[in-house]
Amino acid sequence: MRSPLLCLVFLLLLAPAATRAAEYLELTDFQLIDGTGAPARSTHRLVARDGVIVLIDDQGEMPTPEPDARWLRIGLNGAWVMPGLIDTHVHVARFPDASTQAKMILQRAARGGVTSVRDLAGDARALADIERATSNGEFIGPRVVYSALFGGPDIFRSGPTSEMAAGRPAGAAPWTRAITANTDLRQAVAEARGTGATNIKLYGDLDPRVSKRIIREATRQGLLTTAHATVFPAGPGDLVEAGVGTLSHAPYLVWEGADRIPADYRMRTQGPWESIPPDHPRLLALYQRMAERGVFLDATLYVYKAMRNYSPQVDASWTGAAFAWAAKATRLAHAAGVRVTTGTDWFEPRDDADLPHTHEELALLVEAAGFTPMQAIQAATRDGAAALGMEQSRGTVELGKIADLLVLEADPLKDIRNTTRIRMTVIRGKPVTPE
Ligand SMILES: [Zn+2]
Repeated sequence: MRSPLLCLVFLLLLAPAATRAAEYLELTDFQLIDGTGAPARSTHRLVARDGVIVLIDDQGEMPTPEPDARWLRIGLNGAWVMPGLIDTHVHVARFPDASTQAKMILQRAARGGVTSVRDLAGDARALADIERATSNGEFIGPRVVYSALFGGPDIFRSGPTSEMAAGRPAGAAPWTRAITANTDLRQAVAEARGTGATNIKLYGDLDPRVSKRIIREATRQGLLTTAHATVFPAGPGDLVEAGVGTLSHAPYLVWEGADRIPADYRMRTQGPWESIPPDHPRLLALYQRMAERGVFLDATLYVYKAMRNYSPQVDASWTGAAFAWAAKATRLAHAAGVRVTTGTDWFEPRDDADLPHTHEELALLVEAAGFTPMQAIQAATRDGAAALGMEQSRGTVELGKIADLLVLEADPLKDIRNTTRIRMTVIRGKPVTPE
């Protein structure tokens, strides 16, 4: 029988702890690029309370701090402040010691200006732990939105997709799931949600019918969806018509111009980049349709540019043609009104002293895809937040939004590569300085 004393102890443990004192951050005297598209403006003061922006000059009200509040004031002496970077395509939890490695990558990324990421398939057990540690303040790192990976049985036969759920058979975990025409999708999507994933990623070996059923069911259960731009044999147009939220990897858009899309997803490295131009009429129609339906393009230009440096084991002979094609397609899609986001796929630098590759993706949007620096900044902030379903709380520097900021020594509108000249990152109102 349970003793009354034990019950009392238990109740005391449940009693709320004393309320924590509020934390304020005050930044003064900087040039603000707020991410809305407005030009940079001289700003005297920004105040955040518990990580939320409550004052920008004459907007909002100067808070009166509680007696025990902590108030940190930092004079920026003319530095540039923009929203923190959002990388819409990372894989931080795909290593044997997933949680430890992921935290290291994320910590460095935070110092390197990244304040939110979307993980597009990793071990959800590790990602859920990071989400827990981040939301209770135990770990100061980028906000992590993560995914469950769905694909046909073929994709689980080898490669990284077969290793995302150590201790389980490939394709048989709620966050990495082999799907066939017979799968109970209502159950599969519900189980994916149960891992804390807020996005379903369609990867490969999926036909148009099954792709559509996955996207419909995920949407019905309130999840976001992303897909490789071709999932073999379903192509970009099929995925857009099915209601996908984001298409990843601009080179795979090329299959929209092909008369027939192969069923073998390994064909993704052999796209018809030499024979189908990015302004093929079927592609122009696709960009138009993506813009109308609000489908984001997670172009991931950097990984194609850099794959030949990745590993001698990886065949990168095809990536030159894929990159050149993808840069042009991204330019055309953007001109048609498609919202492009900055995803890297290869996020973490090899050398710990280097910055996350997100900066390279921004630079490529300007240098290879014809974006203005302002447009690239918006891709990396406002549009990334929208793609992750977080436009209400993140992506711009405005009243009521979370204080996720990048503070720079030089003007990124003059030279986009100035996003690398970091004085500090602010994550939910907490300053993080480069090492
Ligand atoms: Zn990826």
